[in-house]
Amino acid sequence: MFDPIYFKSQFPLFDHSENQSLVYLDNAATTQKPQCVIDAIVDFYTKANGNANRSSHRLARVATNLLEKARLQAAEFIGAESKNTIVFTSGATESLNIIANGFRDKLSSGDEIILSLVEHHANIVPWQEVCHSSNAKLVFAEINLNNVKSLVNKKTKIISVTAASNALGLVTDLNSLREIKKQYPDIIIVLDGSQLVAHKPVDIKSWPCDFFVCSAHKFYGPTGVGLLYGRESLLSCLLPLKFGGEMIDNVELHKSYYVTGPERFEGGTSPLSAIAALSACFDFWSKQDRAQMVQYENLLTGYLYEKINKLCDKYPEIYLVGDKKSNIGIATLASNQYSMADIGFWLDEENIAVRVGNHCAQPLFRSLNVRSVLRISLAAYNTREDIDKCVSSFEGFLRENSQPYLLPKEKGYFDVSLLDYRELYGLNNWQHRYKKIMQWGSLLPSRPRLRSEENLVVGCESFLWLSGEKKEGKYYFWVDSDSAVVKGLAAVILCRVFGEKKETILAIDFQQYFLDLGLEKHLSQSRVNGVNAILKSVFDYAER
Ligand code: PMP
Repeated sequence: MFDPIYFKSQFPLFDHSENQSLVYLDNAATTQKPQCVIDAIVDFYTKANGNANRSSHRLARVATNLLEKARLQAAEFIGAESKNTIVFTSGATESLNIIANGFRDKLSSGDEIILSLVEHHANIVPWQEVCHSSNAKLVFAEINLNNVKSLVNKKTKIISVTAASNALGLVTDLNSLREIKKQYPDIIIVLDGSQLVAHKPVDIKSWPCDFFVCSAHKFYGPTGVGLLYGRESLLSCLLPLKFGGEMIDNVELHKSYYVTGPERFEGGTSPLSAIAALSACFDFWSKQDRAQMVQYENLLTGYLYEKINKLCDKYPEIYLVGDKKSNIGIATLASNQYSMADIGFWLDEENIAVRVGNHCAQPLFRSLNVRSVLRISLAAYNTREDIDKCVSSFEGFLRENSQPYLLPKEKGYFDVSLLDYRELYGLNNWQHRYKKIMQWGSLLPSRPRLRSEENLVVGCESFLWLSGEKKEGKYYFWVDSDSAVVKGLAAVILCRVFGEKKETILAIDFQQYFLDLGLEKHLSQSRVNGVNAILKSVFDYAER
């Protein structure tokens, strides 16, 4: 039986005093690293640091051997036919850019490239760029490639799709790609395996694909390194993306010849310490029983969906986007009533890490008519207890915020001038302060006319629009946002400056103000950036 507790004990981050109560459910963004992966980075620099493929001394040989060992391990890990099919890149994004750019000179006007609606931006934008310069056309298949066969025709040159969706967790059914490959062997098939690798074994030899990409940091490896698998015959004729040392066969004054092996795409010094850590990561994987891990993760995914379904039944204002069938352990929630940023903020306060936003899949969520979602993504070190804590905290938010805030009758029309920041001083715990800030955010009226490009405050976690006006030497401000928390935080700032003169505004020590309100330590970096962006806008107005 797979033992998640033992598995987790190998990840030192969870033992650190700051993280002992952490519930980490943002594994689709990045996974934590086992001790052996972390050690390998230190080991490389303390024992073996030399540059690979260059100098003739011992350390350079050690580094070269390490690089080639990792290449062989990578080939074995994904079931590739040879290590010559493996290119080290900085991650899936670079791998996809290399592939797309490599086909730039092989595509012409009218050629078609099929992507699917669920693609990560990393598998859309590079192809858009290539289409701009080659006049080829992008065609989009439905989620899970339901209609992909009907889109294929003589003009189809490439199909580039995800093997599992980062936004919904759905594993792509490879059968339709298999049939297409049989019927049209010349169509190039690219699979983005970024999300799949940590959850399902990969066997490229038996898969219908010519290229496969992934990032080490998503499968317990280090950041800074990823893989690009390509069939040897194809790799040797793709134009590289980077030019320089290492990828060269011969350099003349006005022309150069590039090697045909994987080094063709590895110009410059490779991220050797990351590759050393990746090698340790492959060793780590070789010690796991994959079948048992898959079985455990499937059970955990089933449990996650069971709990979330119950929550959605109880609070119909939230709903699941996606399905538990063929899912790598991702549950994605949306709501027409609540801002997901507010719920993410609430969970973060309880040390529960999830992701909120559009997950680099804007076309998907636009097609589903969903603005922002909250994603819970599992890894093998998660347990039922993690899920229970997350769902119970989520429910806590829904319970606390189920009643709309009603405006006291005597206040009538509401704006920031009616807020008194001193109300926050009296609240001694974070939950109460959070509730008050949410309440302020909810009380401030929606102002659709404010929502213009010029009023958009860049740097906020959710969209925030701010506008100001100067009347008789005093400044007045208005805000709008989908997120009550973001709007409430803006209100905390604006109620201090509303109706004040320039000298007063510029003299306020906002850092001290946030400290006094006890908000400082609750503002994550991205939220601090948002607060700073609001302050900058306010100061810009005051300087006018
Ligand atoms: N594709 C998918 C499906 C992803 O989930 C991601 C990362 N979220 C990427 C590509 C890009 O990976 P990276 O940022 O590591 O290059």
